[in-house]
Amino acid sequence: DFVLNQKCTFDNFVVGPCNRFGHAASMGAAEQPGKSYNPLFLHGSVGVGKTHLLQAFCFSVLERFPDYRILYLSCETFVNHFISALDAGDMQRFRDKYRDIDVLVIDDIQTLANKEKSQEEFFHTFNSLYNAGKQIVLSADCPPKDIPTLHDRLVSRFKWGMVTEIEPPCYETRMAIVKRKSRERGDEVPDEIARFIAENIEENVRELEGAVTRLIGYSRMTGAPLSLDLAREALAGLIEVRKGAPTVEDIIHQVTDHYQVKLSDLQSKRRTKAIAFPRQVAMYLARKVTRHSLEEIGGFFGGRDHTTVLYAVDKMEKLIVSDAVFSKDIQQFMDRLGNGGRK
Ligand code: ADP
Ligand code: MG
Repeated sequence: DFVLNQKCTFDNFVVGPCNRFGHAASMGAAEQPGKSYNPLFLHGSVGVGKTHLLQAFCFSVLERFPDYRILYLSCETFVNHFISALDAGDMQRFRDKYRDIDVLVIDDIQTLANKEKSQEEFFHTFNSLYNAGKQIVLSADCPPKDIPTLHDRLVSRFKWGMVTEIEPPCYETRMAIVKRKSRERGDEVPDEIARFIAENIEENVRELEGAVTRLIGYSRMTGAPLSLDLAREALAGLIEVRKGAPTVEDIIHQVTDHYQVKLSDLQSKRRTKAIAFPRQVAMYLARKVTRHSLEEIGGFFGGRDHTTVLYAVDKMEKLIVSDAVFSKDIQQFMDRLGNGGRK
């Protein structure tokens, strides 16, 4: 009923801390269907890669076990199919179809909410496959217990195997996705632009992908090379909501300009004062004017851990109190960043 998207493979999936477990569990389940994680239940908000992983799982099973019968469908299709089978009095065919298989993959299982009869039928389908040692993989936009009106017996069954959350992509993963998606489209964007997109589009991968497609299309259409200004122009509509909120990019501009250092210095391992100090200033500002976590801020400046960032923030706060000149510098940074932060 459902066509798999050739692009949704494990190879094309960017792995990061946010989706590592879901990715590993899907691969594990594909290696030994019915044996390692059964059922496998992936949940997460919209656009985080659940469908991609389910499809990658299917491709991977098919590669290893070409004669396996896999049924992959949305829960909506399952429900519709069930309703028409009921209508037509043809439940036997329905049951054969869903039980005479090796692997069942159902996307967006939260659609079972408030559907008493469909839940009941799915319960029997589940039991029959599970008892026969067949692999079941499900996705939903929330954990099993949060699906409204889902029967306890289904909730508990969904938890028999592996339940794992796919989180919205963290900053580094967003960067990697932007780079990968732009490379796939034939135009890898420079880091500066990848950072800009990753900082401004935070919630989901689908939107990141949309931004990349739009930027590259815009660049080809206008013949303009990929630059930060072009990105601002092309993506103005997409990131409007956050316009004016200073980004790490803005902070880097300010700090490298003021202290005459390079971004690569700030990101380097070097600890000489001439570099470590501006780096600490940048971390402090990032903490004060952006919503990034300590981990993310550490990541921007050479992959440092959150205690390093905390230390920098603390040190800068003390210095602001004890050093009037420095305090003025910081005030100036803040003012400029408050004005949108750019040149
Ligand atoms: P969901 O089902 O969770 O709503 P999708 O699987 O449909 O999200 O993902 C939305 C889009 O983002 C798809 O085009 C998918 O290929 C892509 N995508 C999501 N996560 C990743 C990832 N980690 N690496 C590469 N592409 C991804
Ligand atoms: Mg989906």
